[in-house]
Amino acid sequence: MVARESCDRLTGIKAVAIDLDGVVYEGARLVPGADRAVERLRHLGKKVFFLTNNSGKSRLDLVDKLSRLNVKAGLEEVFTSGYGAGVFLRERRATGVLVLGSLGLKRELTDLGLRVSDDVRNPYLVIGLDQEFNYEKIAQGLRAALAGSVLVACNRDSNFPIEDGEFLPGCGAMVAAVEAAAGRSVDHVIGKPEPFLLEVISRRHKLVPGQIAVIGDVLEADIAMANSFGSPSIFIDRKRGGDKNGASIIPDFVAQSLEDAVQLFVVKEG
Ligand SMILES: [Mg+2]
Repeated sequence: MVARESCDRLTGIKAVAIDLDGVVYEGARLVPGADRAVERLRHLGKKVFFLTNNSGKSRLDLVDKLSRLNVKAGLEEVFTSGYGAGVFLRERRATGVLVLGSLGLKRELTDLGLRVSDDVRNPYLVIGLDQEFNYEKIAQGLRAALAGSVLVACNRDSNFPIEDGEFLPGCGAMVAAVEAAAGRSVDHVIGKPEPFLLEVISRRHKLVPGQIAVIGDVLEADIAMANSFGSPSIFIDRKRGGDKNGASIIPDFVAQSLEDAVQLFVVKEG
């Protein structure tokens, strides 16, 4: 596994953006030591943010889940691709949105003051992870695209890990279905590897990219996002041998777990 290992890149880090799936938890299970690692970062004076492409759950759902796993997190520390889509639409002063996604996503957008309805003439269509995705929803997406909606995808993840090495189809599978029907690509992608969520953190907390370290277990998502934003990155090599799909994407550091990654900051602080 190749890494830059340039130690000065962790000097001056004020915030750490931690991926959730595969780093803090796997399905419903805490990754051993992840709770201690988060506390350790807080004690070192780092701001902690949790970044996930999960668009099926609202931020509140995730705060509850983290709390059950003994990881303390505030609502303002959690950034999902669904929440990011809401922030994006608010910035664009969207007047209405059709959502192909879960109830959690609809609630997140409604809570942000957006008007969510099933009207295919809404100016925006947001596509998120939807475990009840079906033919009728593809048809709705097609109608919205033909009516001129701006198409916004929460992310393009093909799949995501659950317990015991199993995987489930990700949001990208829904996005691909709508794109295939509409015969065109979506206009915007919010989640990793796009840097939008990091941009929001950087603006809100007045941090430059070099002050935010990204920790994640997918080279093509977490590390690609960090690289495109100019933030230092730590790759969690769960498979012990790298991630073949993203072999050309080089992280700054490689660690075996979140707990192991946090050690890099301790060494830096001397
Ligand atoms: Mg992950």
